[in-house]
Amino acid sequence: MRKKIVAGNWKMNKTYEEALSLVSEIDNMLKDEVSGDVTVIVTPPFPFLHAVGKLTQGNDRLHLAAQNVSEHESGAYTGEVSAAMLRSVGVEYVLVGHSERRLYHHEDAQTLYKKMKAALAQGIKPIFCCGEPLEERDADRHFEYVGQQLKDSISYLSNEEFDQVVIAYEPIWAIGTGRTASSQQAQEMHAYIREQLSRMFDAEAAFNCTILYGGSANPGNAKDLFSKEDVDGGLIGGASLKSRDFTDIVKSF
Ligand code: PEP
Repeated sequence: MRKKIVAGNWKMNKTYEEALSLVSEIDNMLKDEVSGDVTVIVTPPFPFLHAVGKLTQGNDRLHLAAQNVSEHESGAYTGEVSAAMLRSVGVEYVLVGHSERRLYHHEDAQTLYKKMKAALAQGIKPIFCCGEPLEERDADRHFEYVGQQLKDSISYLSNEEFDQVVIAYEPIWAIGTGRTASSQQAQEMHAYIREQLSRMFDAEAAFNCTILYGGSANPGNAKDLFSKEDVDGGLIGGASLKSRDFTDIVKSF
């Protein structure tokens, strides 16, 4: 059975107090309003993981993700955070390959592969992000572009490792722009991704892989996006910073 997931990526937003208020508001709303089978994930900045983790550990309603992980196990890597550190504060998922990390921090395909391996070695599930820039979409090369991103990082995993991976399709032109991919555009890319995955891994694993859509998803468009066969949920940026909007998106299945 394919898992449905809604994950909020808080990026570099919120102070400590604000982060704790946001997560407890979300938790209360989920408790009162959501009874379904959706896995809800919050992705706070590093300094708040420990405190937010106290609320998510042993709580079936909410799960904890980190926004980044080092590809290295431990040692002299100033400013980096290892998978073992994340695990020790209750992190269950980690974003890998977000377009902002690829663009501003020059994370290449091999590095992303190593980050996934480092996370998996600690039992943390990678949420691998992929997606094309506008010029590739306009040139009608978006399928090839995303296919190559999968080939360059994901295809090196074993079947067992791949079973733990979540994919997030995030067209770069839709991230933080207010311009969402249509549900039809999302569906056709998700189906394409699933087909590529079935060539790399066994067909059942590809069928069972959760593929999220990300890019200006909000309470107004989530229902349409989530109604599509291969859209198994969302990776939500801006709208995850407001408890009401985020919970309404969770309720959109
Ligand atoms: C994101 O950055 O992962 C994202 C989907 O952002 P937004 O929802 O703000 O477009």
